[in-house]
Amino acid sequence: MSRIYLDYNASAPLRPEAIEAMSRAFAAPGNPSSVHAAGRAARAMVEEARNAVAALIGGPASTVVFTSGGTEANALAIESAVATGSKRLIVSAIEHDSVLESAKASGAAVEWLPVSAEGVADLAWLSERLGRWDAADGRPFVALMHANNETGVIQPVREAAEIVRAAEGWLHVDAVQSAGKIVTDSRALGADTLVVSAHKLGGPQGVGALTFGPRATLVRRQHGGGQERGRRAGTENVAGIAGFGAAALAALKDQNTDPAPRDGAAARLKAAGAVVMGEGAPRLPGTLCAASPGWGSELQVMQMDLAGIMVSAGSACSSGKVKASHVLTAMGQGDLAACAIRVSGGWATQPEDWAAFAAAWEQVQSRHAARHRAPAA
Ligand code: PLP
Repeated sequence: MSRIYLDYNASAPLRPEAIEAMSRAFAAPGNPSSVHAAGRAARAMVEEARNAVAALIGGPASTVVFTSGGTEANALAIESAVATGSKRLIVSAIEHDSVLESAKASGAAVEWLPVSAEGVADLAWLSERLGRWDAADGRPFVALMHANNETGVIQPVREAAEIVRAAEGWLHVDAVQSAGKIVTDSRALGADTLVVSAHKLGGPQGVGALTFGPRATLVRRQHGGGQERGRRAGTENVAGIAGFGAAALAALKDQNTDPAPRDGAAARLKAAGAVVMGEGAPRLPGTLCAASPGWGSELQVMQMDLAGIMVSAGSACSSGKVKASHVLTAMGQGDLAACAIRVSGGWATQPEDWAAFAAAWEQVQSRHAARHRAPAA
């Protein structure tokens, strides 16, 4: 049976360009901190990748700090804000766990920025809240992601940046899901810190980056050698970083794909009673989150897997267990939150994959419905 992978938001397949760059890096010895020829060659690979990542997310290469992934980069921003005086954090209710949990663990007070039923951050709430900010809470810190990992809903980051800037605050943008899929320019968005992760755009797992603007001060959260200009100690993951750079350059060429194949599939699911989450809001072109009342996410994912299509439940958890999605719950979709699947394509996805997904889903759904149909009286 041929299988179709539609779980890019969990992790995208490696791009050939990344495999090639990593193979070259793996084949070469050298620590980028060494001054001999091998060290200099390793350093060149790291800096070439830094330029590529800067080209993808905007800003000078000197402000790109490589990390072990999106999770560490989010923690670096949040811990930096708290260490430099933010005592209260405003975090959108739909952030990834790496933001939610870092904020909760930071020691600062946390307030949740609400979202609409479509999953869009409520900027009127933000404006009102920052308008009565207590100076004793230090500098306002606001975390608002660029695109949500479950629904694909794109957030009004630029507008939020204006509000945050007027309050002299720090806007943190988790762009892990948007970078490489839609244009993601940290400067145009007005982000003070912005985070990306290689494996969501066709690079390797375990590498990410944070870029920062002039109004953000980063602190050291890892001590040791002076790598990454003293901001993140530890010998660089040269092969991973080289793969990240190659994937970033390749991703620049295929951003903003046509949403039509996704929308075609969505229409077929809706015809069979599914509800598309965030449908009325701008969304990533390759993400579909659809809930089918009464048909649990976990069961749907397993049945689709048996049919050869790999998708995920609304929220993929590291434990492999599925809990009701906090994103859909924040959208007020309580009952549907446990019945949603997320289908996400990317750089190698073909329109036929979306059609094959929809056809398989229709079959699985009609079998499921037949089995659970109430017996005739
Ligand atoms: N932020 C978002 C929106 C994500 O979707 C993810 C991964 O699922 C992360 C952060 C974490 O990134 P990483 O897996 O590189 O730690």
